[in-house]
Amino acid sequence: MSITVHATQWIHFQIKLYNLHSKTRSLKDQKLELPLSEFHQNLIIFTSAAHHGLTFGYQAIQWDTPYTSFPIYIEHQSIPWSTLEQRSHKRITEHITAIFLETMFYRQSQFKQCQFCFEFIIPESLFDHTTCQNCASRHFGVVY
Ligand SMILES: [Zn+2]
Repeated sequence: MSITVHATQWIHFQIKLYNLHSKTRSLKDQKLELPLSEFHQNLIIFTSAAHHGLTFGYQAIQWDTPYTSFPIYIEHQSIPWSTLEQRSHKRITEHITAIFLETMFYRQSQFKQCQFCFEFIIPESLFDHTTCQNCASRHFGVVY
């Protein structure tokens, strides 16, 4: 199953389960996270109900020291509640799905392949555009 099919099925299920179109009935501060490990263990897309609307984003990594990191959540797009509440169920599902997939493709496009180990790496863990941090240590003597 492609990640597009996986993500589409998943978001359709969440829309029904949580009534994602409605601010009042929607999940409160809860984040719904979809890990797409068939592409990469660090590809994680979320949706959550914020004050201003239904938001979409991805998990990223923030390094607080060269050795320790923690996950952070980056909001990429949102749909205002007023937009969602005016539309038919079919249109809402299409709209939410489209924005969710756009967010996934955006984050996916940020992964770069390392020129040495050929692994796909998230931008936060790259030394430069073509080299991961591990290979930068091994090949360029960069000390983290
Ligand atoms: Zn590498």
